[in-house]
Amino acid sequence: SQEFDGLVAIVTGGASGIGAAIAKRLHDGGAKVAALDLNPDAADPSLFAVAANVGDDASVRDAVAAVAGHFGRIDIVVNNAGIGAQGTIEDNNDDEWARVLNVNVIGIARVTRAALPYLRQSEAAAVVNTSSIAATAGLQARALYTASKGAVLSLTRAMAADHLREGIRVNCVNPGTADTPWVGRLLDSAVDPAAERAALNARQPHGRLVAPSEVADAVAYLASPRSGSTTGTSIAVDGGMQEL
Ligand code: NAD
Repeated sequence: SQEFDGLVAIVTGGASGIGAAIAKRLHDGGAKVAALDLNPDAADPSLFAVAANVGDDASVRDAVAAVAGHFGRIDIVVNNAGIGAQGTIEDNNDDEWARVLNVNVIGIARVTRAALPYLRQSEAAAVVNTSSIAATAGLQARALYTASKGAVLSLTRAMAADHLREGIRVNCVNPGTADTPWVGRLLDSAVDPAAERAALNARQPHGRLVAPSEVADAVAYLASPRSGSTTGTSIAVDGGMQEL
């Protein structure tokens, strides 16, 4: 038997990048996995793909109900969907702040809230959120993104405290720069993408980007009963970047 046999997982943003790697890892471990994504058509066919916008409460409630209706239970929620923002506090206006915080922070509260009635019935309930190296390193010109990911760390602890006695564990992962379509898009917009990629690799403490599968392995640990004594904490998967 496998560690996630009989369990149902939701992965938001599960159609691309880190979320797709997490969904694959949980599925390979025996879970039934629903990918909630703006772009469900891009999800791997092994997943139950549901169109959802984590920035919209009605959409989230419909999607979570669809997963519960399809699989009959929800044990694991991975709040991974997120969007980027560049700039200092002078570069993003209030609408941009509201848009990013709505997805990156409130989205986590929304999806977890909708899933709580199911998580309360699970013997193996776990929530894992995707924060970022941005939350712990002082990145320049990333004020809004950094604030949103710092809030993910704090929200993780708050949710862990609130749901401790219900047997629902809540943790997060802090990836460093990972090799995903998101980062690919940023590189492609450079004048010389190959040179930019080489420079980006060289800026990593271990000389390369983080593999999405490495983040997925950390998420799988935090989602599994193997981490049953761990809640309210985070695992950095960043090659040591936060130590620089
Ligand atoms: P990605 O752009 O490759 O994939 C993100 C997925 O989320 C896409 O499938 C997209 O459709 C979906 N999505 C976006 N907004 C959504 C919404 N409102 N509702 C539902 N789905 C939505 O990105 P990625 O690089 O895999 O990043 C995934 C997560 O990891 C994000 O939270 C990001 O902040 C975080 N992260 C990424 C890196 C990195 O270097 N790539 C580093 C640290 C943290």
